[in-house]
Amino acid sequence: MKDVDYIIVGCGLASISFCEQLRVNNKSFIVFNDDSQKSSIVAAGLYNPVILKRFSEVWKAKEQLALALPLYSKIESELNIKIDYKLPILRRFTSIEEQNKWFTASDKPSLEPYLSLQLVKNDNPEIDAPYGFGEVLHAGRLDTEMLITNYKNFLKKNNCLEERSFIHNGIQFIDNAIHYENLKAKHIVFAEGFGVKHNPYFNTIPLTGSKGEILTIKAPKLKIDYAIKSSVFVIPLGDDLYNVGSTYNNDDKSNTPTEAAKEELISKLKTFITCDFQVVNHIAGVRPTVKDRRPLVGRHPKHHNLYVLNGLGTRGVMIAPYVADKLFKFIEHNESLDAEIDVNRFE
Ligand SMILES: Cc1cc2nc3c(=O)[nH]c(=O)nc-3n(C[C@H](O)[C@H](O)[C@H](O)COP(=O)(O)OP(=O)(O)OC[C@H]3O[C@@H](n4cnc5c(N)ncnc54)[C@H](O)[C@@H]3O)c2cc1C
Repeated sequence: MKDVDYIIVGCGLASISFCEQLRVNNKSFIVFNDDSQKSSIVAAGLYNPVILKRFSEVWKAKEQLALALPLYSKIESELNIKIDYKLPILRRFTSIEEQNKWFTASDKPSLEPYLSLQLVKNDNPEIDAPYGFGEVLHAGRLDTEMLITNYKNFLKKNNCLEERSFIHNGIQFIDNAIHYENLKAKHIVFAEGFGVKHNPYFNTIPLTGSKGEILTIKAPKLKIDYAIKSSVFVIPLGDDLYNVGSTYNNDDKSNTPTEAAKEELISKLKTFITCDFQVVNHIAGVRPTVKDRRPLVGRHPKHHNLYVLNGLGTRGVMIAPYVADKLFKFIEHNESLDAEIDVNRFE
């Protein structure tokens, strides 16, 4: 029997942030991960403190960025990889009225650090943007695929990763500990994304799930080194490659790319990009979204050493380090969880 402090189920953004809490605090752990969910690995990876539909601040943007950016930078240096790409995001305006809304919003103290006061004029002949753009500051892209692939290798090297499904009915509760196969653990944290629907301990948590699809295009004439937010995002990856996304579908919960989403993305893209492009990749995943758009964090009502870390929704890059910190302090230091993230808030 091997003793560990924690078993973690999942190896997406939520899990990685929690594992980093455990490493800093010298806790032992084993991660179980299968590839049933794809959300983190397919994510566009943008971090952006502004809601660009309404020109309002993302929930707790400042606190989230203050934890997320140093964490990703620490992982970059420890794993010797590049994952955090600072990237201006240009919001394409569709009217003078929108420009005015932007400048009104930029007066709000909470948004002032993030919304540039300069109207950016379009000088790229391959883009149609007669009303110009507003620039979001302090934004960027996390290469989530690079992060996850390398983090898994790192865990493997340290004998902390089991690359297979965790079977929930294999859990035994014996004398305040959890027994699972040859493991004895103090706690289990389930960071399963939309896969939590198969977890009998937490399958009633109110996760809606929203499927998203992304195309990668090759557009040699486009030549932009900033992201554009219009009816879809266009995000530069280098080598004339760009990610175009995403779609939102609350009915289909599969990870299979669809022709309908591809057509939707292409037709939206063509409303503001005029050059030729070729689709070179198409991926899909299910975001773990929640109706009230807040994460789902906390303890099982009956089994007090089972926890959930979920509901990262559309913004896992920024939220994951924040909620991992809250959950760790809740478990280890008995700090209470804010009602708005507590999984038990719906009871
Ligand atoms: C198309 C798309 C675009 C997105 N773009 C962005 C973006 O630009 N910026 C942003 O911040 N967020 C974005 N997101 C959202 C972001 O990806 C999610 O918020 C985040 O990835 C959720 O992470 P997670 O770790 O909770 O879940 P997941 O990434 O789903 O990870 C859960 C892991 O647990 C594993 N698992 C589940 N059950 C079991 C089991 N029983 N045994 C073993 N393993 C199990 C799964 O296979 C998976 O590996 C996007 C999502 C999609 C789909």
